[in-house]
Amino acid sequence: MTLTEELLAFIKKSPVNYLAAANAARMLEENGFKALREDRRWELIPGGSYYVIRNDSALLAFTIPEEFSRIRICASHADSPCFKLKENPGMERANAYVVLNVEKYGGALIDPWFDRPLSVAGRVFVRDEDRLVRRLVDLDRDILLIPSLAIHMNRNANAGVKHDLQQELLPLFALSGDRVSLDGLIADAAGCDVEDVAGSDLYVYNRQAGSQWGPKGEFISAPRLDDLQCAFTTLKGFLSAERRKSLCMYALFDNEEVGSDTRQGADSTFLRDILIRIYRQLGRDYEQLCMDLAAGLMISADNAHAVHPNYAAKADPVNRPVIGSGVVLKFSGAQRYCTDGYSAALFREICSKAGCRVQVFTNNSDIPGGSTLGIISMSHVSMPAVDIGLPQLAMHSPYETAGSRDGEDLVKISKEFFE
Ligand code: ZN
Repeated sequence: MTLTEELLAFIKKSPVNYLAAANAARMLEENGFKALREDRRWELIPGGSYYVIRNDSALLAFTIPEEFSRIRICASHADSPCFKLKENPGMERANAYVVLNVEKYGGALIDPWFDRPLSVAGRVFVRDEDRLVRRLVDLDRDILLIPSLAIHMNRNANAGVKHDLQQELLPLFALSGDRVSLDGLIADAAGCDVEDVAGSDLYVYNRQAGSQWGPKGEFISAPRLDDLQCAFTTLKGFLSAERRKSLCMYALFDNEEVGSDTRQGADSTFLRDILIRIYRQLGRDYEQLCMDLAAGLMISADNAHAVHPNYAAKADPVNRPVIGSGVVLKFSGAQRYCTDGYSAALFREICSKAGCRVQVFTNNSDIPGGSTLGIISMSHVSMPAVDIGLPQLAMHSPYETAGSRDGEDLVKISKEFFE
C-alpha cells in the first residue's frame, strides 16, 4: 500500500477520537509497545517501549533509551469538528420522522454537513454483572442525513444563510411508524441489551470515503485530515525511527477543537504526569527532567492553511503555503503558535537533514487565525517547541483537502527528529 492508501484506510477506521486512539494503539502494539494503565503501578526498564491511554481518547507512547539527556515530543490531536449526540437523542418531527438531537462539537464548517450520508460512532459503558465495561462502537453504515431545504422554499439560499443549529441541523434518522431506535442499534453494535447501556459518548461522522484525485493523484480529500493526517504520518515516522538518543514521545491529545481544557486534552496534566512517572521510575530527579526538557524539542503537528485558489487574498501576501510543496512551519506575532527563531532554526536543520522542503505560514494581518495545542501544552510542560502542519484546504469541513505527497515528507521529518 502507498502511504496515501494507508492514511485513507486509517481515517476510515478512525471516524471519531476513540477509534483513532485505539488504532494508533494497535499500530504501537504491532511494533512491540507495551500498554500501561494510569491506575496501576509501573515497572519501566531502559530499552523499553510503552504507551498509555487516558480516558480512551488521548495517547502517549514513549521509548526509553539506555542513556539520554534530552526529550523529543511530537504531538497531534485525535478529534475533529463534528456533531455530538445529546442524551435521549430521538425526537419526532412533522408527525412523520425521527431526527436525532445533536449539538455542535468544535468550530465546524456547517454547510458541507448537509446532504451527505452520515453515521454514528463512539464509546458506550455496558453493565456486565457488577462492573461497567467500556466498548467502542461504530455503526459503520449510512444511517443518517441532514437534508437541506429546497431552493424553492428559500430563494435566498445562495445568498449566504445563517443556520439555526437546534432547528436545522438535526439529522434525519427514521420514519416515525417504523419503531426503530438509535439506542437499539448502539446496543447491537456493543453486543448488549439496551437496558445494559449505562453511559455513552457518541458522535455523528461523515461516511464519504477518502479519495486520491487530480490528473496525477496530487490531491487527497477525506474527513478528519485535520488532524489525522499529521497524527498518522508522525506516528509512521516515530515507529520507523531508531529512537536511541532521546526520550522519544509520541502524543495524541483529544479535545483540541474545543479548547483542550479537559483531562485528556493538551491543557491537562497528562503529559506532565507521565514524564514525572517515567523520571521517578528511572531514578532521575526533577532537576534532571527540567534539564532534559530545556535541551529538548516539541513538535506540535496540526494541519495548516494552504493558499486557496479562489480566495488567495485571504492569505498572507508572502508566507502562503501551497499543497504539494511540503511541510509548513507556522509563525504568529501574537504567539498563537509556539514557533520562535530558535525552534524554527532547529526544525529547519532537521528538515534539511531529512532532505525535505519547508514552507512558512503566517496569518494575513487582518484575518486572525486559529491556535493549536502546542502553546497550550507549554503551560504544563515548557520546552523549545515548533508549530508545524501539512498544507490543506477547507479546514473544519467534514470533507477536507490536502496533498498526497506532503505526508511522505512529514514521515521523513519526524523520523529524523526522533533520531
Ligand atoms: Zn487541528
